[in-house]
Amino acid sequence: MKKTLRYNYRLKPTPEQEAKLIEFGSYSRGLWNLLLSENQRQHEQDGTFLFYKDMASRIKQVKNLPEFAWVKAFDSAAAQQVARDLDTALRNGTSKGAHQKFPKFKVSYKIKKLHNDSFRAVNNSNCIRIENGTISLPKIGWVDIVLHRRLVSNIKTVTVQFRHGKWECSITQEVECKEAKKVLSSIVGYDINSKQTVVGSNGLTVSNPKFLKQSKEKLNTLQRQLARRKKGSARWNKTKNRINTLHGKVSRQRLDFAHKTARQITNASDIVVFEGLNVKAMQKFNGQMVADNIMGLISDLTKYKVELEGKIHHEIGRFERSTGICCECNHRHKLTLKDRTFTCVNCGTHNDRDYSASISIRNSGERDLMANGTIVRVKPMPQQKLLGKTKVFELSKLSTGSEEKSAA
Ligand SMILES: [Zn+2]
Repeated sequence: MKKTLRYNYRLKPTPEQEAKLIEFGSYSRGLWNLLLSENQRQHEQDGTFLFYKDMASRIKQVKNLPEFAWVKAFDSAAAQQVARDLDTALRNGTSKGAHQKFPKFKVSYKIKKLHNDSFRAVNNSNCIRIENGTISLPKIGWVDIVLHRRLVSNIKTVTVQFRHGKWECSITQEVECKEAKKVLSSIVGYDINSKQTVVGSNGLTVSNPKFLKQSKEKLNTLQRQLARRKKGSARWNKTKNRINTLHGKVSRQRLDFAHKTARQITNASDIVVFEGLNVKAMQKFNGQMVADNIMGLISDLTKYKVELEGKIHHEIGRFERSTGICCECNHRHKLTLKDRTFTCVNCGTHNDRDYSASISIRNSGERDLMANGTIVRVKPMPQQKLLGKTKVFELSKLSTGSEEKSAA
């Protein structure tokens, strides 16, 4: 089984290259807007859309027109990627029960004061290579890259973007998963509670780190400052830039923390069970917006890390009840949000709310996986019996998963 993973690297372009990168980003945006308006026109005429093939041939036609000389200046493979993205966006926006909205026109840097253009180059016939600390980008040349980690396999695509005041490229690569583990020796359930803390049935507790809170308070201060400044003035721009830089810092800190926690969880056991996260319910829970759902991110990152190692990741049903179940006798209790601990009315065990929830998540994960035939319980070996609760599972059939994209 192969997975497509994304790795982000910092780029250090020269001023000339930077100009070129900005130009390419704007071409990509221009092409998106052009193709989208073509789509709108077509849709008004006969209710149909242009899909990838039509758009690709439209690009070819337009290329030779003098007023669209810029399309010719753009990398042709990257232009096709724009058509591909719009194709996906159209399909997502028009399908039944779509959560995504219909694609929108992209706004330029000047209007939004945001440098969020990006373009994606494709590695056709090995045109994108990394040599001597530089990466070759089609029609741009060799750009300095900060290789903070080695490449895992061949480059598929490279997306270049200016984010939070820095040039970034994200490289997609295909990574082969390790062979599925046949004997799985441990299972751990994880509860994510309303206070945004992960509690594992193995005793692990991870809370939202303090530094994130500090950065966010700083961000709030700056945002209040921005509100006092006159829009568009020099001081306003200064504060705006500081906010942007800080946003970048927060998002990097957040991702770093999530990756580290996900790694910790992955290493801890062979089977990982999470609760299907209902973000909406969690928002209601807290009484405030959980805009940055860091615990959901941890769950997502854990999923691909676990699968890369040939281990099992399982999510129990979204609405399955996990809180208020005694971890000794499974007696159910009704708890209010204030109850952090409870004593079982049936057997008298004193339970911690989150810990008992993680145990019941682990148990229902185990039941699910045995019921659908993914794993079978193997009797513990005699010496393991002495250790008490050690369980050994065996994979009953090799699960085949589909290729997925995950952030790395
Ligand atoms: Zn009990």
